[in-house]
Amino acid sequence: MPEGDSIYRVAARLHEALAGRLLTSAELRVPAHATAALAGRRVLEVRPRGKHLLTRLDGGLTLHTHLRMDGHWEVYRPGERWTGGPAHQIRAVLGTDQGTAVGYRLPVVELLRTTDEGRAVGHLGPDLLGPDWDPAEAVRRLLARPSRPLVEALLDQRNLAGIGNVYANELCFVAGVTPWTEVGQVPHPDRLVERARQMLDANKLRPGHITTGDTRPGYRHWVYGRAGRPCPRCVTPVLTGRQGEAPRDRAVFWCPYCQRGPAPAEAVTNARPGRGAGGRRPGW
Ligand SMILES: [Zn+2]
Repeated sequence: MPEGDSIYRVAARLHEALAGRLLTSAELRVPAHATAALAGRRVLEVRPRGKHLLTRLDGGLTLHTHLRMDGHWEVYRPGERWTGGPAHQIRAVLGTDQGTAVGYRLPVVELLRTTDEGRAVGHLGPDLLGPDWDPAEAVRRLLARPSRPLVEALLDQRNLAGIGNVYANELCFVAGVTPWTEVGQVPHPDRLVERARQMLDANKLRPGHITTGDTRPGYRHWVYGRAGRPCPRCVTPVLTGRQGEAPRDRAVFWCPYCQRGPAPAEAVTNARPGRGAGGRRPGW
């Protein structure tokens, strides 16, 4: 799943290309909206909401799209070749006299009345990068089911909107608890949601989902994607496993020294202690 900071950048790029301009051509290549006549409408704005994109048009219409795993939007200048994928993967085309936005492999392409946007995004929790970010409400939602594993609660967009698997794993690390720790047992959930907002905010204008503050490739994350490599804090090898029930399970990464809490026995048994395992554990 994409992270909310990536969607924020996609929305900004689309907004810059489309906002205020008249659509000279527009096609939605999905059965439900194949005949929608959008040409002649003006694009008002393109806004992110969690991981959803809302393209608002005059006349009270909103194009709701979601990228899920591998959808993407590209913007091309007039006459430029479209290189984002084969033509049959194109799901949406929004053209103006300045350029054309092309949506590839979008699993969600839905046209709705702007007043009905709540049907598409009303279930989402507070948006980490939204103007209406509400940390107290995010904490309340996270703790409403206190026995859920932390990584799962963080990924549930109904609790707070914008976290994907990279940030979910990294947030478990900075909180000093394993991904399986019950969310109700996490010390200082208020600091956790604030840290989540800081992480996404720091990355909303740059690629890479950098959580360590170190922009060098290979040093950008504490544990995510680092299985078998030394924890940057204590050099114990980082472990990996799966959390959740298939097919909705996900890869998780954690440091068995820096992160306290439950973890599958087989993963921990195979772990070798690191040389630096006498250091200070992180945490709040
Ligand atoms: Zn560590």
